[in-house]
Order: sequence, then C-alpha cells, then structure tokens
Amino acid sequence: MNDMRAVECDVETSDIKFDCRDVQVHYGETHAIRDVSVQLEARKVTSFIGPSGCGKSTFLRCLNRMNDTIASCRVRGSLRLDGEDIYDRRIDPVQLRARVGMVFQKPNPFPKSIYDNVAYGPRIHGLAKNKAELNEIVEKSLRRGAIWDEVKDRLHAPGTGLSGGQQQRLCIARAIATEPEVLLMDEPCSALDPIATAQVEELIDELRASYSVVIVTHSMQQAARVSQKTAFFHLGSLVEFGDTGQIFTNPKDPRTESYITGRIG
Ligand code: ADP
Repeated sequence: MNDMRAVECDVETSDIKFDCRDVQVHYGETHAIRDVSVQLEARKVTSFIGPSGCGKSTFLRCLNRMNDTIASCRVRGSLRLDGEDIYDRRIDPVQLRARVGMVFQKPNPFPKSIYDNVAYGPRIHGLAKNKAELNEIVEKSLRRGAIWDEVKDRLHAPGTGLSGGQQQRLCIARAIATEPEVLLMDEPCSALDPIATAQVEELIDELRASYSVVIVTHSMQQAARVSQKTAFFHLGSLVEFGDTGQIFTNPKDPRTESYITGRIG
C-alpha cells in the first residue's frame, strides 16, 4: 500500500496539474461535453477556443465544480487535481474553489469596499491571524493583480466605482487572495476596452509564474498572445490540444484548420 502511494507521488511531481479523463457533461438531455480527456500543466496558460456553444465554459466550470450549482447538470468521468479526484464526496467544493479560483466574463466586484472585496476569501477561509496579516494579504494580492498603485489611497471606496478594467483586475486580485493553484478565466476581457485588455493580458502572463491559468476566449489572437497551450473544442468534443504555436500554424485536424482560418465558427 505504501509502495503504491510512493508511485502515485512520483506521478504528482510531474508538471501535470489537472488530469481529466473521459469527461462527459449533460444538461438534462443535452450532451454538452463528450468524452474529453486533457492534461493541463502547471505554470502554463492554456486557452480553450472554439465556436460559441461548443462547451468551453462548461468544461472550464467542471474544473472547480461551478457546474454543481446548475440543477440539470451531470458531470461524469475523472478530474484529478494533483492526483486527487475533485468530485470525490470528501471534497468540499468551497475549499476546492479556494484552490481553483475563477474570474468571470463581466467584472463582478461585490458591493463592498476594494479592501473587503480582496479580504473576503482570506476571511472566510481563516487565512489571516490578525488585522496586520490581513492587510498584508490584501496589499500583496492587489500588487499581484497589478492594481495596487491605482487603489492604494482609496482602499475603502466601493469596488464598483472603479473602471471596468480596474474592476476586472480587482476581481483577479480577489481570486488570487486565497493563494489558488489554478486560476480559471471565462472570457475575462470580453467586457473590456483594448487598453484594459492589454493590461489584463500582461497580468495573465505574469501570473503564469505562480499559477496554472486556464482561459476561455473567443479571440484567437488573444489565445495566440497569452497561452502556451491551446485546446480546440467543437460540438462538445476536444478536437485538438497542443502547443499554441503548433495549433495556429500547423493544426493536425481539418476542423481546427477550418476554425482558425475562419471557415467555421
Ligand atoms: P461555450 O462556452 O463554448 O460557448 P457552453 O459551455 O456555454 O459553450 O455551452 C455548451 C452547450 O451546453 C450548449 O449547447 C449550451 O446551450 C448548453 N448549456 C450551457 N449552459 C447551460 C445551462 N446552464 N443549462 C442548459 N444548457 C446549457
């Protein structure tokens, strides 16, 4: 038994963060994800691309069990984070979401101060022993979110009063305040102007040093700019997964080629 564990640990030291096998997702009768197997690496940005409705967001939401909140949704297959089955009954989804943070399409700061937005996760997970420690976490997270300089003099102003791009960086700071291992981003720039988009893309590149980042994007240019790995989904299937450069310059599947040359989607 102990030997078995040692073997499992060896596997875990590889750079695979998420090992997903034969994943199926249904919403009632709709078969939204068909037999998807993919391994997502640590400290890399992976993009999910594909035409609208192909299952990108559904698969992303499997990675932190956000689909649990949708009554009609059924997830089957194996999804392992560092070797651990995240759908195991012993896993608490709230704890899981602290490890696998999420940033949404529309910036959604809580109707609270900038400080309280970032302090929220550390408070509910008891990550700070006292006020000084909490202050430290808030500052560090806002710095990592590349927004500290813009907000340090108004930490007690409402988060909703910031510009859209600032709000999205605040939401990223909020997501990383619990020190997640993986950051999921569902079209994080779709509500942002080009300058704010460039700032968030730059931030994604910096975050890669510490986290695995998975980003759903409808923009192939964005996938090419920010990610090292790209997964192309079509009609619920993962058609092709590989190095971003290879997917965009030398796709192996004709469906990937059709999509990146603009013939489908
Ligand atoms: P994408 O992110 O690629 O646009 P989605 O994951 O949102 O695709 O959707 C994949 C499929 O699942 C679509 O057929 C969509 O209609 C369906 N779907 C997504 N969310 C729900 C939901 N909450 N309830 C029922 N069906 C859904």
